[in-house]
Amino acid sequence: MHFDSKLPDVGTTIFTVMSRRALDENALNIGQGFPDYPVDPRLSQALVDVIAEGRNQYAPMEGVVELRAEIARKLETCYAQRFDPQTEITVTCGGTEALYDAIQAVVRAGDEVIIFEPAYDAYEPAVRLAGGRAIAIPLAPPRFGYDWDRVAAALSPRTRLIIINSPQNPSCSVADAADLDALAALLRDRPISVLADEVYEHVLYDGRRHASVLAHPELRLRSFAVFSFGKTLHATGWRVGYCIAPPDMTRELRRVHQFNTFSIASPLQHAIARYLTRHPDAWRGLADFFQAKRDLLAARLAGSGFEPVPSAGTYFQLVDYSALSGATDIDFADRLIREAKVATIPLSPFYKNPPSMSLLRLCIAKRDDTLEQAAAQLRAFAARI
Ligand code: GLN
Repeated sequence: MHFDSKLPDVGTTIFTVMSRRALDENALNIGQGFPDYPVDPRLSQALVDVIAEGRNQYAPMEGVVELRAEIARKLETCYAQRFDPQTEITVTCGGTEALYDAIQAVVRAGDEVIIFEPAYDAYEPAVRLAGGRAIAIPLAPPRFGYDWDRVAAALSPRTRLIIINSPQNPSCSVADAADLDALAALLRDRPISVLADEVYEHVLYDGRRHASVLAHPELRLRSFAVFSFGKTLHATGWRVGYCIAPPDMTRELRRVHQFNTFSIASPLQHAIARYLTRHPDAWRGLADFFQAKRDLLAARLAGSGFEPVPSAGTYFQLVDYSALSGATDIDFADRLIREAKVATIPLSPFYKNPPSMSLLRLCIAKRDDTLEQAAAQLRAFAARI
């Protein structure tokens, strides 16, 4: 039988490819975004405890009550807004499931969805599976800022959703309050929803404050906002995220969620709820924690030929290698794995039609000695070639 792919051009994600290559080549992996240091031992102990106490059966579809209450409390602390755990908060399998559910809930055949490139890789395939079409608008390097006039020109009667991501992966840029105002003005009186990927909400640098759609009086009413305990608690493998949306949008999201993952691992939810109850400020200090790592890596790389591009947020740092090589980013990243024994993430896979670029994304959510070792290997490689 001839089997016809629904996503013929989609390969294995660049994150998985580079992590596999790092293992094969015995390279240091500062590509895929995950910490190489342990979670808070009090969080792991909470997980051991709740399993021993028997929290091992299905959680409610929308998330365990205690966790949704903690999420509501945290949102009120961060954004001075109240959200109803019953009707506005849904726990999902990482941020990725929330993104997928929101897209399936909103996008119909023939609809258009605005995304910004370089775009996180999960958006476009989900739009296509829903029958929609992604319209990509570039963020221009090196600042990767929004051009709202271009967005205005791209809107059509078919536009149904606009996906924003701030702090932005992989460009490390952030949207400010003026960007959200511009977006709100564009969408006023149009039947367009917003999907805001805010998983790096706590990781903004140099005193910047996160502008959340949840704190914006107009955008809040038309947005799905996606968050991640993986990022906030340094536990990406737990795959626990959540989605905040007005009740009518949450109802639709849950219609998808209940037939996608149904509910999220019960002990993980109870452990996070218990941990946040006991340590409600556990997430404070993330910006300083990662900023010190960003500065350490940038200082170690300065003058090496891997030129750090200012990072405004996320737990990544871009470097420009154009002083070292004219190779494509994919080829150069591959060479770095083989010769420098360092795995990074090239930027071109985040574009449908990649411009020629010489940027690599490095993950700074690593132990200081990992970052120092990676920088030393990159410097030594640069000095050799
Ligand atoms: N969010 C992670 C990153 O940007 C990747 C997660 C994944 O591999 N799907 O590196």
